[in-house]
Amino acid sequence: MSSPDSNDPQMKRSNGVESAAGGVAPPVVDLHLHTTASDGQLTPTELIEQISKTSLKIVAVTDHDSTEGVDEALAAAERHPQLTIIPGIELGTEDGDSEVHLISHFIDPNAPGLQDYLKHLRNGRVEAARGTVEKLAELGIKIEWERVLEIADGAVGRPHIARAMEEAGYVQHAQDAFQRYLGNDGLARVKRPKPTPADGVRFLHSVGATATLAHPQTVKGLRNVLGFLVDEGLDGIEVFAPKYGNSDRERRLEVATRNGLIAVGGSDYHAWGTSEEIVPGDPNTVGPPLEAVDRLQAAAERWKAMIPTAPELPGNGSATGVG
Ligand SMILES: [Zn+2]
Repeated sequence: MSSPDSNDPQMKRSNGVESAAGGVAPPVVDLHLHTTASDGQLTPTELIEQISKTSLKIVAVTDHDSTEGVDEALAAAERHPQLTIIPGIELGTEDGDSEVHLISHFIDPNAPGLQDYLKHLRNGRVEAARGTVEKLAELGIKIEWERVLEIADGAVGRPHIARAMEEAGYVQHAQDAFQRYLGNDGLARVKRPKPTPADGVRFLHSVGATATLAHPQTVKGLRNVLGFLVDEGLDGIEVFAPKYGNSDRERRLEVATRNGLIAVGGSDYHAWGTSEEIVPGDPNTVGPPLEAVDRLQAAAERWKAMIPTAPELPGNGSATGVG
């Protein structure tokens, strides 16, 4: 059952990922970016200004559990007609003790039920962050909760706590705080209640948006998770994730193809300013092909068409079962 093209270099080149010379063409699409609406360091305007100076033409703003950066990004992009912004989100879900992040594209921030759901998730995030600060205090690390909120200036999360620790001199770099204290097995980690990955996929589809699996390398038991998410109607998987190295790309592409998934991806940029961070539009990275955007849009249109319109059952006008 060998596929005729798997070892044919001509065929590999024709997928538009590699340039004809075998080098890497500058990326045109970046489908995974963060702003101050979650744990990014740039405002949506700053991010779009930075991106406008690169080769990128189509980018998605995908903040954690928030679409609040979308409007500002769209407004900023009006000054840069070459740029198209895709409204997106990165939804945090959990499978046992493994975090599974879902990236969604073509989400409508005004879709009924969406903002209530996100508010519920963010409240859980605040509770967990506050609990983390309390745990740190028990460990002798005294940072001010108010200062964490100031740094966050929006959706609060572990990176903001890390920066408060850096400011107070408890760690040299914010990233160091994760190793000992804030990482998944860290001493001060407080978990927050999260939807399961299957719930996350169903929810995103219920508001007419796509659901794709972010940074699959970080998912424990990937084969199993992917199996049930594909059954659930998962639309795509991140293949073009430069920070996890180019060597994995072909393998991930194969996984995508085998499961009929759209190959998506992007820089997952937060503007942390660390030396290993991939900057959007980095000419040495490979972005998703334009075709991926068309396929995402078509998928979103299919999910939107399936949203039930106003309740029609006589005497039983129960709203959509989102919870
Ligand atoms: Zn991300």
